[in-house]
Amino acid sequence: MTNKIEVLAPAGNPAALRAAVFSGADAVYMGGALFSARANAVNFSREEMAEAVRFARERNVRVYVTVNTLLKEDELSEALDFCAFLCSLPVDGILVQDMGLFMLLRAACPDMPVHTSTQMSLHTPGGAMLAKELGASRVVLAREMSLAEIREVSAETDVELEAFVHGALCMSLSGQCYFSAMLGGRSGNRGRCAQTCRLPFAAPGGTGHDLSLKDMSFIDHITQLQEAGVCSAKIEGRMKRPEYVAAAVSACRHAADGEKAPQALLDDLNAVFSRSGFTDGYLSAKRGREMFGIRTKEDVEGASSAVFASLHELYKNEMQRVPVTFRAGVFTGENPWLTVSDGENTVTVSEDTHICEAAMKLPVNTERWTAQLQKTGGTPYLCTGVEIETDEKTAVPISVLNGLRRRALELLGEKRQEKPAVPFAMPELRKEPHRPEKLKLRGWFQSAEQVPENAHLLEKLILPLETPVETLESLRGDGHSLILALPRAFWGLEKEVREAMCRCRDAGFTHFHVGNLGGAALCRALDVSAHGGFSMNVFNTQSVNAFEKLGFADTELSFELTKEEIAQVGGTLPRGILVYGRQPLMLTRNCPLANSPKGCLNCKHTLYIRDRKGVEFPVQCTKWGGRPVYSEVLNSVPLVLSDWLDHGVNADFGVLRFTVENAVECGEILERFIKREKPHGDYTRGLFTRGVL
Ligand SMILES: [Zn+2]
Repeated sequence: MTNKIEVLAPAGNPAALRAAVFSGADAVYMGGALFSARANAVNFSREEMAEAVRFARERNVRVYVTVNTLLKEDELSEALDFCAFLCSLPVDGILVQDMGLFMLLRAACPDMPVHTSTQMSLHTPGGAMLAKELGASRVVLAREMSLAEIREVSAETDVELEAFVHGALCMSLSGQCYFSAMLGGRSGNRGRCAQTCRLPFAAPGGTGHDLSLKDMSFIDHITQLQEAGVCSAKIEGRMKRPEYVAAAVSACRHAADGEKAPQALLDDLNAVFSRSGFTDGYLSAKRGREMFGIRTKEDVEGASSAVFASLHELYKNEMQRVPVTFRAGVFTGENPWLTVSDGENTVTVSEDTHICEAAMKLPVNTERWTAQLQKTGGTPYLCTGVEIETDEKTAVPISVLNGLRRRALELLGEKRQEKPAVPFAMPELRKEPHRPEKLKLRGWFQSAEQVPENAHLLEKLILPLETPVETLESLRGDGHSLILALPRAFWGLEKEVREAMCRCRDAGFTHFHVGNLGGAALCRALDVSAHGGFSMNVFNTQSVNAFEKLGFADTELSFELTKEEIAQVGGTLPRGILVYGRQPLMLTRNCPLANSPKGCLNCKHTLYIRDRKGVEFPVQCTKWGGRPVYSEVLNSVPLVLSDWLDHGVNADFGVLRFTVENAVECGEILERFIKREKPHGDYTRGLFTRGVL
């Protein structure tokens, strides 16, 4: 790979693929019919994908395929089968989210590059380093990162880094959104996001659409990203039209080549799709109200047929991007021949039905022959040199030369399309059924002030890492077993989080609750016990095993699983499920409450955003050293499974996750759980019965 940043385009369908390649993409990413984080895109059948890979390879364009959904137990073998197919083509990389699949692929096809999808929520140096250590060749960074934070990651690891540069922004950190799943059973972690967040949700004093961000555009910053160590500039939009793809690729192509994109192109790019214009708020660390936007009537009307027609010009014609050289032989009494080479592959053809005759006129016009061979328009090839071998007394019809050139390039193309398969050894999915212990209860508290009088009924208390050590010591003195929870995300705060962990460790607290691979990395580095949170998105036995291998003491499973699906998850590592609490539906770096004139000053208390029907969702702002780090949008009602805990749940512990409750309420709820009482008031069974698509 050259040092130039790779322009990586979405290819949601074959038409978008052509648009991307003809307008200058270096690489494309696409999904198969299954297990792709854009299940609604047209996506590619196996035949189409094989064809697409050949098409791209002939043109020096790399193809990465997304298998980046969380996988249910019974989907793993089909996903592996699909990855075996991808190795047979072979593609240039596979993007994954599911830790189980990730580890299986590292064993099954170590030679196939695996990229960690942005769905893995990686955003710290430790997280990226751990991904590399586990065998990732590339890390797709979270979209919320600032340039300084990207630099920090790149300075500490040599794993390839890929960053989004243009397209839609999710409100939530990718991989941490359960909004569409909880509200409609369509899991964003399984490619089924219903984009519920684009509907009006109003924060007090906000914009009225306080869960909808403008689209991002970092095209102006591509050079800075490259200097920061990013090797691939990714364009979002597998659901978008070919015209959009071509516009974005073309603009990125200019930027990556160090040129300024023509203003007309940028205007067209803005017109073809935006949500009230673009934002670079995350990259420039200027977050806030300015970043919010929706698709307005003007935005829709901007995408006129004139804009589409002008963008169509960008990919009407094949781009001549593969340099080749020709050598022709023309001798009296012999068949003319032509050799073409791309530097690696060489093909020679001769015209056996034609014997060159002596020229009527001398000297022969070899310049004309050269000019004829240079005519490679309409092919992916760019002629960079022609050599003619001749006795200089011979004639050859132009039509014969044209025929030789066409045939030579065709054969070269076929040769370029071939590539040996990447070896794939199908792993055996052995699975020991899990034998759970009698279910214990743990309490997760947002602050030590919530810990109730009867907390001794809990096996363990999970408290924030920032809890003062004296408070922790006093709770330990009361006989409580403590786990300290790292923030679920900590952009730019790895050092501070690590220092806080060290302080706790030095005071004898060596158990930590982690919600992200970045946290797991810190636990490994400090040699302390890691307990996985629900946000590790553990979906299947292989994923449980992956975390066991990483040294985890135990892990929570994803709350997107049903009771039946939980029953299928085998392995020996102790696992827990969420049994009580308002589930965090989103984790966002852009606090919706900060859209009010008071900003995050409001966030000392729990405030609410409201949907159109007046349903209220609490929003809680997590701070570090007084500065907001992220906000969680919580469900409008708590999950309550108190009366179902003894009915054969395949888990060793249940977690009561206290958020908006005070100590008295926490105590009452715990009491009801101990008594296995039926829930009353407003509550939900969550996805435990419903499940997700
Ligand atoms: Zn806030």
